[in-house]
Amino acid sequence: MILSEQKPFDEIIAYLEKDRSVFVLGCNGCAQSSGSGGPRQVEEMKQKLTEAGKKVTGTKVIDFLCEKALVKSGLKGKVDQLKEADAVLVLTCGIGVQAVAAAINKLVYPGCNTVNLGGSRGEWEGSERCNECGQCLLYHTGGICPLTACTKSLVSGACGGANHGKCEISPDRDCGWELIYNRLKARGQLERLADIMKPLDHKKIMPRPEMMSTPRYALEQPEKEEKAP
Ligand code: SF4
Ligand code: SF4
Repeated sequence: MILSEQKPFDEIIAYLEKDRSVFVLGCNGCAQSSGSGGPRQVEEMKQKLTEAGKKVTGTKVIDFLCEKALVKSGLKGKVDQLKEADAVLVLTCGIGVQAVAAAINKLVYPGCNTVNLGGSRGEWEGSERCNECGQCLLYHTGGICPLTACTKSLVSGACGGANHGKCEISPDRDCGWELIYNRLKARGQLERLADIMKPLDHKKIMPRPEMMSTPRYALEQPEKEEKAP
């Protein structure tokens, strides 16, 4: 399971500053269990956005947003509502947001931060990865995670070492920042590259103390080696 929590509403509404209409997408998997993006939270978000003067063109909750095939099939009946929306707000973990951004040709914004559980993984088999940084940056990067797509986890742009689109550290990997640049360009959002990115707050990357005292966290830890007598 991946734990997520909703971003402050002020941050979400700032993302939508230039957008008049929005489609809200939730996840019936981990986000529903986390209380951050299930049917209830999607409905609540719709009301809050409407009260804030945004037109919500539609909503949908899909079983696992980390599965791109489910995203595409789940949204088949929502084509008109999606077309009408300037952006899609996704209430789920960073993997789900990335999968949605890859699956549909729309502006996709994260509505949640993914919280570190100290190692839990599960549920998806796609190529998207999330480092559970607790301060999701996908709004600025076209829905591609800079922490996992870039070998150096750079959050403020490319290192300049890429060669023909491949990473200078791992030539078998695409340069994550070239992927981000190409995505932003394709979606008409190149101005995002000028966003000032704050340094990561590493306190948010660590599992929270309350998580570290749960049985689930204890079960995730490697067994300690017995000392030889
Ligand atoms: S920026 Fe990347 S690591 Fe951080 S929550 Fe978003 S997807 Fe996960
Ligand atoms: S070449 Fe690209 S992916 Fe590799 S470290 Fe530099 S910016 Fe990151």
